Amino acid sequence: MTAKRVIIVGAGIAGLAAALRLQRIGWTPIVVERAPARREGGYAVVFSGLGHAAAERMGVLPAISKHGLAAFDLAYVTADGRPRFTVPADTVRRLLGDRGLTVLRGDIEAALYEAVAGTVEIRLGTTVTAVAQDEGGVDVTLADGTTERADLLVGADGLHSTVRELVFGQESRFRVDLNHVVAAFTLDRLPAGARQRAFTTVTAVGRTFTIADLGAGRAAAFFTYSTADPDAELAKGPRKALEQAYPGLRWAAPELIAAMREEAVYFDSVSQIVADRWSEGRVVLLGDSAWCVTLFAGYGTSLAVGGADLLGTELERHPDDLPAALRAWEAGLRTEVTERQLKGRSNTGVHAPRNRLELILRDLPLRLATVPPVTRWLGHHLDFHTR
Ligand SMILES: Cc1cc2nc3c(=O)[nH]c(=O)nc-3n(C[C@H](O)[C@H](O)[C@H](O)COP(=O)(O)OP(=O)(O)OC[C@H]3O[C@@H](n4cnc5c(N)ncnc54)[C@H](O)[C@@H]3O)c2cc1C
Repeated sequence: MTAKRVIIVGAGIAGLAAALRLQRIGWTPIVVERAPARREGGYAVVFSGLGHAAAERMGVLPAISKHGLAAFDLAYVTADGRPRFTVPADTVRRLLGDRGLTVLRGDIEAALYEAVAGTVEIRLGTTVTAVAQDEGGVDVTLADGTTERADLLVGADGLHSTVRELVFGQESRFRVDLNHVVAAFTLDRLPAGARQRAFTTVTAVGRTFTIADLGAGRAAAFFTYSTADPDAELAKGPRKALEQAYPGLRWAAPELIAAMREEAVYFDSVSQIVADRWSEGRVVLLGDSAWCVTLFAGYGTSLAVGGADLLGTELERHPDDLPAALRAWEAGLRTEVTERQLKGRSNTGVHAPRNRLELILRDLPLRLATVPPVTRWLGHHLDFHTR
């Protein structure tokens, strides 16, 4: 019997996890990635729950965990850099639980890439331009004019998915803006005055930024601010947008904005994708393209890896019935995704409080985070732990 073929669009965390998992059940994946080269580090994420457990089953957890960031404080400072309060590293560790880690997004991607490199075909610098399906298969036309026929097409091409656009409809039908913009980038040194072994955050009404010491002289910064018109902000480009959104924040922000390389910045709206189904015949969406929960939920990488793992499980369980496999897969994820999207929406004020009161309410549990019952409550509220 010839192996079933799957075309996976997107070599991000969802796409590479799907390639690994489907290869393990005997499928032959081809991964198609628009970027001409693999992407780098980017920003720090909490990796926990569903994805952590799936990575363990898939055998890639040790490769991810070895990049886990060492213990760090969460330091909150004023707009001119004076300390407000600090959540100490051992409390942060307890908040994450035994089965949660903080790691660069790119390090999860790299661990998955290493696991498939050499055995899975990965075509860089190309994309899909047309999709046609019939009872026997799906024909995927690529930008170079070639067509590949497969048993399944996985759209793991992120928030602005082309597969979703080609098969399910325009992005505007699915995109729910949370009226924030995020800019994230890495730096090759910790800015002057930033604390070592800490994630240092400045929060003002409607905007926040964090500098993370990643160790070994590296650092990451991310800015999030609220706006009524995210697309207008994106049109300005990151430097101009941040300069205008962060006036008067004297400490570190001007230096960070001046230091960033615009072409290397992750700069996008904070938007969820809400779709009432994630598959159409032989085409399935996975990861941010299907359900983007946003950074406010802190769970997108976990759902990407967990979703890929479950896809493999259901395809193996229903080898001759693709619709049944995809139905079971979606049913297995829907509740979790809906809850995480709700959490993402309710967390918008936590990242960039809309007013002074929200700021005080946001800070209160963090100020008390070392008190054991509050630690437990926060851990549950942030919900990093395995369910
Ligand atoms: C600042 C920030 C902080 C975050 N924090 C957390 C956190 O703490 N915890 C957590 O779990 N998650 C977090 N997330 C979310 C998490 O990063 C994403 O949910 C996750 O990485 C999504 O992976 P993905 O593979 O679905 O999509 P993506 O990472 O977007 O990958 C999509 C891939 O497809 C490629 N592609 C796009 N279009 C095409 C095309 N047309 N053709 C071919 N290839 C294409 C892209 O180049 C990319 O390689 C955060 C996100 C941000 C921005």
